[in-house]
Parts: sequence; C-alpha cells; structure tokens
Amino acid sequence: MTRKKADFLVFTPHPDDAEFGTSGTVAKLTREGKKVVYVVCSNGDKGTDDINVRQEDLVKIREKEQIEAAKILGVEEVIFLRHPDQALEDTPEFRKEIVKYIREYKPEIVITADPYRRYVWHRDHRIVGRVVLDAIFPYARDVWSYPDFMEMGILPHKVKEVWLWAPEDPDINFRSDITDTFEIKVQALSCHKSQIKEPFKSEMEKWLCKRAKDMAEGEAFKLAEGFHRIEIWF
Ligand SMILES: [Zn+2]
Repeated sequence: MTRKKADFLVFTPHPDDAEFGTSGTVAKLTREGKKVVYVVCSNGDKGTDDINVRQEDLVKIREKEQIEAAKILGVEEVIFLRHPDQALEDTPEFRKEIVKYIREYKPEIVITADPYRRYVWHRDHRIVGRVVLDAIFPYARDVWSYPDFMEMGILPHKVKEVWLWAPEDPDINFRSDITDTFEIKVQALSCHKSQIKEPFKSEMEKWLCKRAKDMAEGEAFKLAEGFHRIEIWF
C-alpha cells in the first residue's frame, strides 16, 4: 500500500479543463518520465448548446474525447468519477472520495483548478479546487480523519505541492515552460470536438499562443502556463 502510483495527480472538474489549464505542463512531465494520472470529477453532461444531443450520449462523447487527449499527453490513467455536471458540492462524501485517490495514488504533486478566481468562474471549478485543497490538508494527511480507511489499509499521505491552474494574474507565482509542448497542448485540446466549435475553433491556436506568450513575459522561455504554486512543508 505504500507504493506510489502517480508522481502527479490531476483533478479536473470537467473533461477539457485540464487541457486548457495544464496540458502543456502535463506533456512536458510525461516526456520527462513522470507518471501523471487524471481524475475527472464530473461527467460533463451539461456541456452543450445543442438541444438535439442527449445527455447520456454527451457523457460518452466527452469521455472518449478526454481519453484521446490524455493519450496524446502521455497520461498514464484516466479515472472518471461521473458526478453530474453543475452539481458538485463541498460535501463530506465528495471530500472523502478525493482523499481516497490521494491516499491510494500517493502523488508528490497535485494539480487542479484555482478555486479563488473572482466573479465569473464555473461553480464546479470553485468547488473542486476547494475540496481538493481540503482533502490534501488535513484529511489525506491525518491518521484519524477516516478510521475506516485505516482499517482498510488506505493510509495517510502527505502531498508536497499543489499547482492551481487559472489563478487571477496577481496570484501567479509559477510559470511552467511549455515552449516545446505547446503544439501537443493544441493537439490535445483539439480532441474536445464537442466543446471547441466555431468561431472559437479557428481562433483557438492564436488565442492560446497569445496567452502562453503573455504568461512567459520576463522569463527565459517563450511560452508558459501560469499557476499558483503552494509548497506544503508541514
Ligand atoms: Zn470546466
């Protein structure tokens, strides 16, 4: 039970969020030999403006898109929690579910959405970011947070760092060089065909490139993804 199953665990609210937020970095990590595992929290069944698409079909389409994107990025495993879209809540049950994956996969670093974007921010992103932070500390760390997990051999684990994607600009304290993996990010995002449609589709690469350039301003590299990084030393 003490064997690590992932170097990085990525908790994404919907299929496609991790591709927007961190896929250039994920591609770089896997190419360096790091084991990255995705946990997709919701099934994305509200993510369409097409009234002719049935929700159960949309879920299947989005899982397929997520798996294709993960394959391009070199992600080791994709876990689908399949909670309904727009219905994630900060509950003891959801927190415990997240703790279980952290304890089982024992990642050194967890990547997820920053919960503290102000004003307009998808509620699922806010909830996932917050619940994951709580799950890391103190619930995954402390022995008696879940006595039943102890009985089952699901032992405590200390995560060393958290990287939050899409923070507000003043909160960015870590810029990850994605110069060599930017094209892979574009390819991975292109898998999410149900989400990326015209007019955004033809503008996407230009838009991503501009954002990545802005993010790398003042750095020795050209393109970056920005994070709020938290080191947990206690
Ligand atoms: Zn989302």
